[in-house]
Amino acid sequence: MGQILVTGGAGYIGAHTVKRLNTAGFETVVFDNLATGHRDFARWGAFIQGDVNNAEALDQLFSSRSIDAVVHFAAASQVGESVREPLRYYQNNVGGTISLLAAMRRHKVETLVFSSSCAVYGPPFEGLLTEDHACAPISPYAKTKRMMEEVMEDMAHAGSLRYTALRYFNAAGADPEAEVGERHNPETHLIPLVLQIALGQRERLDIFGDDYPTPDGTAIRDYIHVQDLADAHILALRHLQKGGASGAVNLGNGQGHSVRQIVDTAREITGHDIPVRMAPRREGDSPRLVGDATKARSVLGWNPAMADIREIIATAWAWHQKEMRHTPPR
Ligand code: UDP
Repeated sequence: MGQILVTGGAGYIGAHTVKRLNTAGFETVVFDNLATGHRDFARWGAFIQGDVNNAEALDQLFSSRSIDAVVHFAAASQVGESVREPLRYYQNNVGGTISLLAAMRRHKVETLVFSSSCAVYGPPFEGLLTEDHACAPISPYAKTKRMMEEVMEDMAHAGSLRYTALRYFNAAGADPEAEVGERHNPETHLIPLVLQIALGQRERLDIFGDDYPTPDGTAIRDYIHVQDLADAHILALRHLQKGGASGAVNLGNGQGHSVRQIVDTAREITGHDIPVRMAPRREGDSPRLVGDATKARSVLGWNPAMADIREIIATAWAWHQKEMRHTPPR
C-alpha cells in the first residue's frame, strides 16, 4: 500500500485527520507551507514543507514516493480576509488546487478527498441543508471552495478524477488526548475566542449581530467535532478506494446552536464568566447553517461519536488550557 498525501496537514482539521489516518494504519506524508499550519502539529508520518502552487516541489514529491491518494486541505480559510484580499484567495486556493490536480494527472494519482465548506450554500437557510440545496456562495473564500468543487466535478465527468468533496459545517473541539487542537493566529472562530476569554487572554466577546431571524436573534451554526470530521476523511478514502461514486457530502450534526447558546455552554463548562457585548453583523455571515448528513451516513457509513456540544466544547477547553500552560504570556 502506498502513502496518503495530506496537503495542509499541519493545520487544524488536517492535523487531526493525519493523526486518525495513522491510527487507522495509513502511512501519510504531510505537505504544508506552514503559512498558517504549525510544524509541531505535523507529528505523525512524514513532513515536507512546500506549497501546492509549486509544480516542481509537487513533481519531486510524487516521483520520490508511491502516493495512492490525496487529502487536500491546503487553503486560506478566513472569510473576512477573503473579502479584503480576494485575489490572494483565488490564487492560493483555486490556483493551488489546479496545480495539485495537474500534478496528480502527471503522476497518475486519481483519488482525492477535498476539504469543502457549507459556506457554498445559498439562501434560504431554514431547515436542514442537503447536498442538492442551491449553491450561491457569498464570500470570496466560499466562492473558491465552490469553484474548486466545480473543477473536480468536470474532471470526474471526464473520467480523470475520483473525488469526495466534504462540506464541513462548523469544525470545533480538539483531539480528546489534547495532542493537537485549534490554534489560529489571529483567532476569529467563536469557540476558541470564548475559551480564550475564559482563560483571561481576552476581555470580552463581540456578538456579531443580535437581530437575525432566529429565536434569540444571534446566528445559528451546526458544530461538529473535529475528530468526527477527521474520521469522515478516512471513510471517504475507503469509499473511493472501493470504487464509490464521486460527489459532495455534508458533514454536520443536524443540530443548530446560537452564539448565545455557545457562550452559555462555555460558561457552564469553564465555570468562568464570559463577558459579551453586542456588535454589528459580520460581512459574509449567514443567519443559520445547519446540515443534513443523511448522505454521509448512508454513503460513507459516517456516525459522529461526539455530537454533544458540551463534549465538543469540553475537549476544546482541555486543549486551550494545555496550550496556555505551554505558551509564554503575551
Ligand atoms: N461570532 C461572533 N463573534 C466572534 C466570532 C464569531 O459572534 O467574535 C459568530 C459568527 O458571526 C457566526 C458564529 O459566531 O455566526 C460562528 O462563527 P465562526 O467564525 O466560528 O465560524 P463561521 O460560521 O463563520 O465559519
